[in-house]
Amino acid sequence: MTECRILVFLGAPGAGKGTQTTRLVREFQMKHLSTGEALRQKAGEDTLLGNQARETMERGELVSDDLVAEVVREYMTDFRNSTGFILDGFPRNLAQAELLEEIAGKTPIWVINIRVDEEVVINRLSGRRQCTECGRISNVNFSPPRQEDVCDACGAKLVQRPDDLPDVIQRRLQVYREQTKPLADFYTKKGCYFEVDGNQNADTVFKRISAHLTGEESSAESPNLSADQSVA
Ligand code: ADP
Repeated sequence: MTECRILVFLGAPGAGKGTQTTRLVREFQMKHLSTGEALRQKAGEDTLLGNQARETMERGELVSDDLVAEVVREYMTDFRNSTGFILDGFPRNLAQAELLEEIAGKTPIWVINIRVDEEVVINRLSGRRQCTECGRISNVNFSPPRQEDVCDACGAKLVQRPDDLPDVIQRRLQVYREQTKPLADFYTKKGCYFEVDGNQNADTVFKRISAHLTGEESSAESPNLSADQSVA
């Protein structure tokens, strides 16, 4: 991959966008921005904007397009000086998709939608715990830490993200269905859309995405999901 392109990950909360982004950054030396992480940093600041962002995120809703635009512009200033730039969590609605068109200019946008069943994401998100020191993610539903609430890697405390509480997960999924899902149509019409079945294990998903990016797999995979089963 030599030509610069912007890679956009679509997919419900818990679809595995962050996991795939981390691996692609390592494998293909791409730059990346997770708007969720960048906004969590902003939300940690004791400023008016920081407090507003935190309250919005804790309700499971989208922060204002203006704040997101500020974050994205800040991180994407020199994106053309890379083999590629991955966006995890942006765009999340049509207004943000239009903004991305403007920022990208002639740089091609590639969109990958990681489709997952709703029950799978609920299971993933409700069990997710993050280490307060090293940031490592564990999951009490799939790979519980050896000692409850203690990070296996560094021994620090594990916590649950406030937006991973059951009511908030439901709200995030609703926001996803209403605001983000329509982007699949938007990008399908533009001819730059690819889907991968995110119910499979992370290695398999990664192989499919890599093959797509390197041109080894030209046609979109057809995940065996019915529209009502899937949140994507
Ligand atoms: P997830 O994708 O699992 O929902 P993220 O960590 O990407 O989690 O995002 C967490 C929260 O950050 C979202 O629920 C939302 O409040 C906020 N957020 C992230 N990206 C955006 C965006 N592009 N526009 C508006 N809000 C965003």
